[in-house]
Amino acid sequence: MTKDVSLATAASTRCVHQKDTSLALFGGDPTVPAGRVVLWPAAKRKHLKALANVVESGKYHRVNHPMVIELEKRLADWSGNWSVRAVGSGTAAIHVALDYYRNRGRRVVTSALNWPGAVGPIAISGLEPVFVDVEPDLAGVDEKMAASLIKPGDAATLITHLFGNNLLVPSLRFAARARGVAIIDDVCQSIGAAKDIVNGAYLESDALSLSGNGAKHLGAGELGFVLTRDPALIHHVDNVSLTSSSRCGARIFSPNSKGYNYRPNVFSAAIANHRLKQLDRQLKKRRRNARFLWQEIGHLSGLLPLFDPADHQQSMLNLPLRLEPEKLGFLPGPTARDFIIKLLQAEGVPVAVWLTKPVFEYLPDICGQWSRTDFPNAMKILNTMFYVSEIAPPNDVEVMKLYAAAFQKVWAALPNLASKIPEIVSVA
Ligand SMILES: *Cc1c(COP(=O)(O)O)cnc(C)c1O
Repeated sequence: MTKDVSLATAASTRCVHQKDTSLALFGGDPTVPAGRVVLWPAAKRKHLKALANVVESGKYHRVNHPMVIELEKRLADWSGNWSVRAVGSGTAAIHVALDYYRNRGRRVVTSALNWPGAVGPIAISGLEPVFVDVEPDLAGVDEKMAASLIKPGDAATLITHLFGNNLLVPSLRFAARARGVAIIDDVCQSIGAAKDIVNGAYLESDALSLSGNGAKHLGAGELGFVLTRDPALIHHVDNVSLTSSSRCGARIFSPNSKGYNYRPNVFSAAIANHRLKQLDRQLKKRRRNARFLWQEIGHLSGLLPLFDPADHQQSMLNLPLRLEPEKLGFLPGPTARDFIIKLLQAEGVPVAVWLTKPVFEYLPDICGQWSRTDFPNAMKILNTMFYVSEIAPPNDVEVMKLYAAAFQKVWAALPNLASKIPEIVSVA
């Protein structure tokens, strides 16, 4: 009798145990139930109201629309430092800034780990990019290397802040200032860098380019901003981003009939205006979620953050992570990462690979001039990184617990998966 009971218990325990640990990729139940995660831009009924306000205004595209003016003012107030102009996209904002500073020289010093669309405007402006490797714990430009490369007569350095990290890089800024080279910060993924994040001071920068596109913090469709303290740059934005109307509403083919017409989308501006009111709350929740998730998974072998998730000034857009395949007994290179991503995705965790190539390989005109071997840190990150998206509200700590459970389940199974992935197992 006693024996029967214990046998039954053992059998049922084994059964539950097996169910719990069988990976979704091989037919088990996903850890994160379908429909549990809210995908950014997390649509709300209030967004419909914001859009309706534009419809009722009867004006769909004026740069002097009260909605656009209010948004610019709110963003300026929120940052506490910069004058703001709304434009059509983050890319447009980078282009306008580069276009303004292009007379200073030919070269633009920037990171090889970069968003391809962000460096496109360098060539569009008739300038020449100079690529620098990255600092591994910053996911951003190696400031010492960049500072040593910058020469008087260069046009600008384009400092790209990725995934919500803040790139303070003081020695690079100092070198640029000393040599008369413009400083442009691409903060499209790091809206918080517009705040006083340098021990209470603002970034030493000539222009910040910000995106309001659907994937970024303002999740607003198609929208961008130039932030600056230089009135002449503000004037330049008005000059090249408006062709058939002026800020004061006059309908003239000036300020510049050869302008780029980078007008902001008023519907997007209405959404961004609404979102900005809750931006601090959003940032706080993203940070809390990222910190919590990292607390739960940080002990897993071979897993590293790209930058410190506990930094309370970052504006984490996604939680960027990196694998050390060797620590897990796998061969170096992207194969182990790609396999683990498949396992996590099957469990319902929103993970993805960011990019797989250094940025110059996306630029057909110049890709032949640069070689992967000169950018070992960027290559290492590209081969091993992935990110967890959907850390924004309304997803909360309960959702992060599900992500964490999925990571733990996958990591627990990894040692037994060698037979399924012989091509990546190190035979040393
Ligand atoms: C999104 C992004 C851009 C471009 O912004 P858009 O509004 O999509 O044009 C530029 N740089 C970085 C780093 C980005 O993430």
